[in-house]
This record gives sequence, structure tokens and C-alpha cells, in this order.
Amino acid sequence: MADVHGRSDLLPNTASTPAAATKVSRAALRPIEAGSYVDCARCRERVKFQAKIRLMQVICNVYADGRWVKVEHYHEACYLATDMPYGPPS
Ligand SMILES: [Zn+2]
Repeated sequence: MADVHGRSDLLPNTASTPAAATKVSRAALRPIEAGSYVDCARCRERVKFQAKIRLMQVICNVYADGRWVKVEHYHEACYLATDMPYGPPS
């Protein structure tokens, strides 16, 4: 047997495929900024900043087959009412 040098160390490193897990749809809860000009993907109304009330919006990065498709915005209440199609907001 010539196998005295521990040659199993020479196996190619196939375990390093970083960032594969980021290519899925996801949702994030963020404060609505002043001057926001986006419409809610559910009710189609403006996700509007209001100075008196600190409203939150849900911003969703939508992926299909591992490719980014679009961003969708929701009122926080609307997103919860749609059963959170892109998972719970982070
Ligand atoms: Zn809405």
C-alpha cells in the first residue's frame, strides 16, 4: 500500500457555495420614509408617510427559480392579511 501520506486531503472543496440561500423571496419590515412613492401590492393604495403616526411597511424581494424578479411593498397590516406570502418579515 502506498497510501501513507493522507491523500484524502486532496479532495476538491465542493462544500463552499456561499450565498445560495439568499436567492429566495424574503420580506423585511421597515419604517415608511417621508416622500415614499410606492403602492401597496395588495390594496393598491399609496404606502404613505404620515408624520403623526409611525407606520411600518413590508418590503419584499421576490425571487423565482433563484432569480430576482421584483420588489413589492405592502402596508404592514396588508402583508399580514395576505398570510405573509414571502415569509415573516425580518
Ligand atoms: Zn395596503
